Amino acid sequence: MDTIDLVDITIDAVPGWGTESGIKVDMLRLDKIHPLVSGNKWFKLHPAIDAAKAAGYGHLLSFGGAHSNHLLALAAAAHGAGFRSTGLVRGHHGAAKPTETLKYCMQKGMHLHFLDRQVYRRKTEPSFLDGVQKQYPDAWVIPEGGADAYGRKGSEQIAAHIPDGYTHVCCAIGTGTMFAGLRNALPASVYMLGFIPMKGGKYIDASIVSYLRNGRNDCWQTWDRWHFGGFGKSNPDLRRFVSGFYDRSGIPLDLVYTGKMMAGVRELLDQQFFPSSAKILCIHSGGLRPVV
Ligand SMILES: *Cc1c(COP(=O)(O)O)cnc(C)c1O
Repeated sequence: MDTIDLVDITIDAVPGWGTESGIKVDMLRLDKIHPLVSGNKWFKLHPAIDAAKAAGYGHLLSFGGAHSNHLLALAAAAHGAGFRSTGLVRGHHGAAKPTETLKYCMQKGMHLHFLDRQVYRRKTEPSFLDGVQKQYPDAWVIPEGGADAYGRKGSEQIAAHIPDGYTHVCCAIGTGTMFAGLRNALPASVYMLGFIPMKGGKYIDASIVSYLRNGRNDCWQTWDRWHFGGFGKSNPDLRRFVSGFYDRSGIPLDLVYTGKMMAGVRELLDQQFFPSSAKILCIHSGGLRPVV
């Protein structure tokens, strides 16, 4: 069984990133709760799992690509909580040659159902979801990335691990669920910075706005500048940055989310974006993979 241990979460200083004038840079190590399950995915899934259990469900179903951190977390969480699980996977390539992610999902007992990419694209359409529900009538359906009200509620709980005193909180963005949940939960006096790893990913701002409470509209900002080629892509600059960061701090970053975020934070520090007394907390949301 998978043990998730929230007591393992620590706050670690990023060595050498603080300044004499008083800037401090720390990381909230949500990656430490489990070697594979992304910290933020675990937080996002918990409220949905509790609700499914309370409503008498024994089967969880969701969507993701062949490298999805979300499906992997769902497989582990479902297994740990005694649920059956089904993953609807984008594309058929993972069927013939399962990725490490899909192998792990299967090990945890997840039933995988591969979909054509064109079909998968309809994953949020009501008519498509009706069909899924007919095919799996006993399943509690969770959207891709855990991007629902339960996911935002779970993300709000990350704020409980953030002590007072930080002026800036930095967060990687996929669906914006973690960012919106945290933005709602943290006081407006804490400024939030979001790093979008998709090329042209600023469209996410609109969905973030739609989820924010009153009074949380003007205390945040996002960038899609540090995409390094696009979602899931990396280049030698990013790989060099991530390995240099590990050498100096002992903190491993992933190439999809947290590596791009920290590259952005580094550049903002170099550009003197932050006031000289900034206390910056970067959320390490996990996403670490065994080297393949
Ligand atoms: C999924 C994921 C994110 C993005 O979270 P959203 O709530 O979808 O914005 C960030 N970091 C890691 C490591 C993730 O796995």
